[in-house]
Amino acid sequence: MSKPEGSRNTDIVGCVFNIERFAIRDGPGIRTTVFLKGCPLRCLWCANPESISAAPQLFYFENLCTRCYRCVEACPNKATLISPDGVIIIDRAICKACGKCVEACPNKAREISGKLMTVAEVLEEVKKDTLFYQNSGGGVTFSGGEPTHQPDFLWHLLKSSKESGLHTCLDTSGLVKPEVLKRMLEYTDLVLYDIKHMDAEKHKEYAGVDNRLILDNARLIVSLGKEMIIRVPLIPGHNDTPDNIKALAGFMKSLGLNKVDLLPYHSLGKIKYQRLGMEYKLGDLKPHTKEEIAQIKADLEAYGLKVGVG
Ligand code: SF4
Ligand code: SF4
Repeated sequence: MSKPEGSRNTDIVGCVFNIERFAIRDGPGIRTTVFLKGCPLRCLWCANPESISAAPQLFYFENLCTRCYRCVEACPNKATLISPDGVIIIDRAICKACGKCVEACPNKAREISGKLMTVAEVLEEVKKDTLFYQNSGGGVTFSGGEPTHQPDFLWHLLKSSKESGLHTCLDTSGLVKPEVLKRMLEYTDLVLYDIKHMDAEKHKEYAGVDNRLILDNARLIVSLGKEMIIRVPLIPGHNDTPDNIKALAGFMKSLGLNKVDLLPYHSLGKIKYQRLGMEYKLGDLKPHTKEEIAQIKADLEAYGLKVGVG
């Protein structure tokens, strides 16, 4: 997002949907992970559907709603309506996520996901745990969504973090213009790089875009000498086949990479789709069993990789 004339770089504003303190799975040590809104991918399994849109959005918790209809009166845009049988309907096409209904609701049945914050505000939050970072070898991780989707905001977050002496991780899908990625790497210590599938067509089927740019950017990061850990969301029946595992290992070895973290599928994000009025396309897909994950880990290790399970 742009900054007002005459303002400082730390006044640049971006949209953040979560700041997780004491994170231990997003890079070394104890970290704070900052989740930026906006993503160009459409992964079927996405556990954070609120990360897809770059703008703030309204969550509606139907289980907390007592149908008092105060939200209907409060909405200046007539985006909250009552159906003939008394059910609350939200017209997402005209909802501006203004938050008036959130203020009016006595039952916390509404919430806005996505807060506009300045770089300085984010850093203030992140720096609260500096002592923990120093003692554990941790730092700050920028994730999403796809954090490079807000390039100026992210670049200033990374720069300000480094200027504050923090270790920085960038958690990216790699679907970003190479010149933008290179800019981010100036102030990135470690890249956590998501690879969803090695086959371009399958990648397109499952994530909405093919993987060519993503694989090219992985090569670019390595060529620039940046430390990188590959992360794979492990989705039953989608990217867990021996062929894909073999192709992944081959690609990593061709780049001289040896660390991969598996992120097993879970369906905890499914309820969020309902709360955002979105469709969850994986239905009742069952997570892998412990034994299945152990087998996939062993298969990757047999290719000489160091495998973590997140
Ligand atoms: S967030 Fe604003 S526009 Fe959307 S339903 Fe609530 S009051 Fe209406
Ligand atoms: S104000 Fe809250 S509890 Fe009342 S109808 Fe709206 S969402 Fe439901």
